[in-house]
Amino acid sequence: MSKVENFIQRLGKVRGRNGSWTAQCPAHEDKSPSLSVREAEDGRVLVHCFGGCDVHSVLGAVGMDMNDLFPELDERLDHNQVSKPLKPAFYASDLLRIASFECLVVMIAAYDMRRGKKLSEEDLNRLETAQQRIEEVIQYANV
Ligand SMILES: [Zn+2]
Repeated sequence: MSKVENFIQRLGKVRGRNGSWTAQCPAHEDKSPSLSVREAEDGRVLVHCFGGCDVHSVLGAVGMDMNDLFPELDERLDHNQVSKPLKPAFYASDLLRIASFECLVVMIAAYDMRRGKKLSEEDLNRLETAQQRIEEVIQYANV
């Protein structure tokens, strides 16, 4: 089993293939899958939570750390490279999957508001999360 497979099998609602997945983030209460996992061509594993969790929290929540994904980091890279953050890159299909779910949340809220229904505190909080995620998807999509 590869390092990334070992990580993926600890997550819920995993979807995807060919080195690119979305799943439930283990580091926060995640009803819709907001975790993106991608295995780069050079073997690096890029982990990103669209709910805002940092990679250490995500790995910690499943009992792993960076060494479990990058066992050879110190030997492979010099220290200048290690200090550089990995630039996340995502497949359009991952971004679309996340964005389409969040758009659905916004659409339901818009439908209720148009019909004069007052949104609950919980609905408003969920709407704020959707807004943040859509903003972040736009940022990563470079549009
Ligand atoms: Zn998270």
